[in-house]
Amino acid sequence: MANTENVLIHPAVDNGIKRDSSDFSGGALSCHCTNRPVSIRVGAQTAHNHVCGCTKCWKPDGAIFSMVAVVSRDAVEVLENGDKLHVINKDAPIQRYACRECGVHMYGRIENKDHPFFGLDFVHTELSKDKGWSAPEFAAFVSSVIESGVDPSRMDGIRARLRELGLTPYDTLSPPLMDAIATHAAKRQTKPAPAQTRQSASPVPAEAKQSASPAPQRTPAPAPPAQESRSIFTRLLNKLFGR
Ligand SMILES: [Zn+2]
Ligand SMILES: [Zn+2]
Repeated sequence: MANTENVLIHPAVDNGIKRDSSDFSGGALSCHCTNRPVSIRVGAQTAHNHVCGCTKCWKPDGAIFSMVAVVSRDAVEVLENGDKLHVINKDAPIQRYACRECGVHMYGRIENKDHPFFGLDFVHTELSKDKGWSAPEFAAFVSSVIESGVDPSRMDGIRARLRELGLTPYDTLSPPLMDAIATHAAKRQTKPAPAQTRQSASPVPAEAKQSASPAPQRTPAPAPPAQESRSIFTRLLNKLFGR
């Protein structure tokens, strides 16, 4: 068993995970600025909270994982100092609205209606003083922490610590979320959208477009070999989350 002493994941989980409260219905999140902080209201309990090892999510100084949850975009509202927000990368599948001054990400929004998670915003509930937010349930994109500079030799200890905390480590997302993505992909395959709408749906990778709408021919193309479709799926995942 790997040594898990001194393995730090994220300040919100390192001392054990606080359970959420079932009747919680949201609160306010603020950035780290002492002067004119950006604040937003998240008017509902969050779901699928998790720690994430990807290189794109905002994380506090010194943490190797971020902590991120989803909530209906209708529940997210900018309360104060929204003029300090800017989008990190307008071309990314998730538009991350960050404070220009302290760099904290306030919410991530998906504008592509064909994205499997369209309608959900990504938020970091550690930015809230309110207690009762949904507790983290798993660890996503764990192997990606190596891309942020973590030595590969530490991975056994990191995965063991995550298990100790009850955060099952996955190198993509959790099975329910992966199933949701696959279900969405399967539905799109059986019901191809008209060519014109498809063209305007930008963040779908070229490979996926090609496989979903082959050159004009009546007979359906044979299914690609399993391995090939898996690599298309991996590329799709990267395209969806930019991780
Ligand atoms: Zn700020
Ligand atoms: Zn992430």
